[in-house]
Amino acid sequence: KHNPEGDSEFLEDETTKKFARKVADHYSARTNQTLEEREASPIIHLKKLNNWIKSVLIQLYAHRGDAVLDLACGKGGDLIKWDKAKIAYYVGIDIAEGSIEDCRTRYNGDADHHQRRKKFTFPAHLMCGDCYEVRLDKVLADDAPFDVVSCQFALHYSWSTEARARRALANVSALLRPGGTFIGTMPDANVIIKKLREAEGLVFGNSVYWIRFDDDFSEKKFKSSSPFGIKYKFHLEDAVDCPEWIVPFHVFKSLVEEYDMELVFMKNNHEFVHEYMKKPEFVELMRRLGALGDGNQDQSKFVAYQP
Ligand code: SAM
Repeated sequence: KHNPEGDSEFLEDETTKKFARKVADHYSARTNQTLEEREASPIIHLKKLNNWIKSVLIQLYAHRGDAVLDLACGKGGDLIKWDKAKIAYYVGIDIAEGSIEDCRTRYNGDADHHQRRKKFTFPAHLMCGDCYEVRLDKVLADDAPFDVVSCQFALHYSWSTEARARRALANVSALLRPGGTFIGTMPDANVIIKKLREAEGLVFGNSVYWIRFDDDFSEKKFKSSSPFGIKYKFHLEDAVDCPEWIVPFHVFKSLVEEYDMELVFMKNNHEFVHEYMKKPEFVELMRRLGALGDGNQDQSKFVAYQP
């Protein structure tokens, strides 16, 4: 096991904090959509595909009776998925106050949200906090260890500095039980960099999204031994508009290993869909979610196992 006490002090400078605040404010300000608004969204298909991917990951790696830590849980969009997996305990943390409020409302079942439903069967502990700055092993000493740690569409927000990326993985490692599993999704850096190479300048995109790299972007840094802080602005119609950071795969892999986990797999959307659409139960799930069709391939999922 990695000893978190042994980590050098992870210090934050003002600029890092300012960007973390920007991300938090962006997500905090996003309001819940009605069912009609959701269905009319220009990215409804992407949302459904993302939900299918998260559902498959959860069905594959969560088991009845598990204790789950959901890092950057957002508005609790995965609560139902965890309930279906019959977990026994859930801790959700997010930096955005507004999202945690929405998550609490959804958990309590008194939302005007379209997923009005019976109460969840598992107890939940919901907190607002910066998962990439705070020593979560101290905050969650009474809740740990966890069977599953999940970080969906959010780990890349930790790659703004090496210290934050390390804090993220040190937290996961310290809180997972031996034999526990870390699952997640994040943008596929290789696809993003490939598209950037093909672009005229530092911007590319289509009718629903654009990505703009900072003027000081250099390929050298991407390939360097310390590729942290490679920032771009991500705009996704009806969903996201905030700074994000590139997570080079080789660095992710070596950091995961440094923090005593083994990488089980890392697949992009295309590979993931190809693999799991071979299983009838996941084909049926895709049909139920209405997610059949073309997807976007700019993300990757990972599973890391704590031996
Ligand atoms: N995991 C949720 C899901 O799949 O629906 C939310 C994903 S949303 C794209 C990204 C989330 O990461 C936002 O809710 C945001 O507030 C959260 N986030 C970003 N930086 C964070 C940090 N440092 N600590 C905790 N949460 C963070």
